[in-house]
Amino acid sequence: MAHLMSVRRSVVLLLALAGLVGFLDASAGDADHLYKSCVEKCEQSGCVGDQCFQHCKFSSDGKPVDGPWYMQEPLYLRWKQWDCRSDCRYHCMLAREEERMTLGGKPVKYHGKWPFLRVNGIQEPVSVALSALNLAVQFHGWLSFFILLYYKLPLRPDKKTYYEYTGLWHTYGILSMNSWFWSAVFHSRDVEWTERLDYSSAVALLGFSLILALLRALNVRDEASRVMFSAPLIAFVTTHILYLNFYQFDYGWNMKVCVVMGIAQLLIWAIWAGVTRHPSRWKLWVVVVGGGLAMLLEIYDFPPYMGFVDAHALWHATTIPLSYLWWSFIRDDAELRTTTLLKKVK
Ligand SMILES: [Zn+2]
Repeated sequence: MAHLMSVRRSVVLLLALAGLVGFLDASAGDADHLYKSCVEKCEQSGCVGDQCFQHCKFSSDGKPVDGPWYMQEPLYLRWKQWDCRSDCRYHCMLAREEERMTLGGKPVKYHGKWPFLRVNGIQEPVSVALSALNLAVQFHGWLSFFILLYYKLPLRPDKKTYYEYTGLWHTYGILSMNSWFWSAVFHSRDVEWTERLDYSSAVALLGFSLILALLRALNVRDEASRVMFSAPLIAFVTTHILYLNFYQFDYGWNMKVCVVMGIAQLLIWAIWAGVTRHPSRWKLWVVVVGGGLAMLLEIYDFPPYMGFVDAHALWHATTIPLSYLWWSFIRDDAELRTTTLLKKVK
């Protein structure tokens, strides 16, 4: 979430790099030999302790090892792609974490993720709920922006808005709603295709909001200059998304790209907030500073409290009030530009 990043840039950049190192060698849990042998045994027996899993009665190509076809799981359960291996991994993780706790140990990551407790097959219920709330806030912001422009503020004789950034903010709203939608899907079930869609949507949003920051802060209003500013960025972001999806899903490189794009637009908004006499510039400051503090949560990754609330979930919580304020700034901006332009006409 683009504009929602830090103010102490250099500190944050360093922390981000530190976080990157932590991110790359995060999975102590699945390297543990007790966990490994548990998963191996489970995949053969279909059980961990006295708990046994239905999926393990089927071979990997989905054909039942014993029993007729109607014994297979219904499709609506299979879309979640729970299979024997993922069931075994989950329950071995729980068993191993319980042992670790009784010995006074701290939680560790498994396959790059904290040990979360599932609710109805949803992997990170708190992050899913918060992503949905973010989606709702974005929708509310986008809708109120639309109503303000087309029903409350005067329109030009050709029925277009006076505000020059209407189309750009519409696209921004759509991209951010799309991004929160896939975030909710990804947090409910982390498989390859949900991960790709979540990452790609986030990169698209981040890239587009960088373009928007440039165009708004530099007051670029004619079509030709807008194309000149955005074409290289659109080309870069498109290439990056294609690279991630069709060449190599490189987490480290993607993180660098996102950090650079995030910090760039943050700097742009911060500098603009510093020089502009925009009456709502305090909202810009709150979003920039608040976003920076929130970003620390992304970097200081801590394990889920009670198996549910981790740093990432809290980060998704902080973006809710920030997005609300952000859309309020956008509405103020639309109003300000419209009244300024009308004064000029008169
Ligand atoms: Zn998330």
